Amino acid sequence: MPPTELHQAYVFDLDGTIYLGDHLLPGAARLIGELRRRGIPVRFLSNNPTKDPQQYVEKLARLGLPTEITDIANTVVTTTRWLQEHHPGATLFVVGEQPLKRALTEAGFRLSEDPEQIDVVVASYDRTFDYAKLQTAFDAIWFHRRAILVQTNPDRFCPFPGGRGEPDCAAITAAIETCTGVKAEANLGKPSPIMLEEALRGLEVDPADCVMVGDRLGTDIQMALDTGMASCLVLTGETTAQDVAALEENHKPTYVLDRIDRLIPQRLWDELGWTEQD
Ligand SMILES: [Mg+2]
Repeated sequence: MPPTELHQAYVFDLDGTIYLGDHLLPGAARLIGELRRRGIPVRFLSNNPTKDPQQYVEKLARLGLPTEITDIANTVVTTTRWLQEHHPGATLFVVGEQPLKRALTEAGFRLSEDPEQIDVVVASYDRTFDYAKLQTAFDAIWFHRRAILVQTNPDRFCPFPGGRGEPDCAAITAAIETCTGVKAEANLGKPSPIMLEEALRGLEVDPADCVMVGDRLGTDIQMALDTGMASCLVLTGETTAQDVAALEENHKPTYVLDRIDRLIPQRLWDELGWTEQD
């Protein structure tokens, strides 16, 4: 069933929810426009650590959805903030890409490839991952027994349009965990409530009055279930209606929608004169 009332704040996943590749999904622009027109807070969350929030600002503007940087959070932001709070001054080895390394450097962390100096190994989505990096992480964690392991996000792969994808952070975490026998101590991406906290920062709303909207059961919907938010699965990304039908009752999202603008209740569609052709 689609919602019959509006919520107090909306948190959206980006890929597969707002856009797919370089195209906004049907209804996304007018939904966001209508929520903003009503003064309802809208926040965007991504587990993808290969871009920083400024790059998302640029992408959303290019797609016709101009957005303030403060309304966007991703795992570059949560990883930086978590390390500042829990391991200030730590020397890091980042198995990750430039935007993450740049944010951590700008936050004052020292990055090192010397296993004798590394305090924290940060596993991330790294398309330049190789054996030398695995050896450095192994030496810092297993041989020198000094570094801990954390991961930016738990995604196994990142989906692309046309059914393709790329191996994501969980594959790199697994390689490091397998050779060292050490488990990652923290996950800084959805479904961790750390992401929700970041999304709702500065808003005086109760998560129970908010809705999390996304295309993945294990991250977007799980975070909502774990934090008492309403959840909305959109069928425009990774998950199919058959996947939802196979779920146990207590794992089902609050709403399952084939197009995202169904978050606007039907009576408002009628008032606004919206049709599915738009
Ligand atoms: Mg997604």
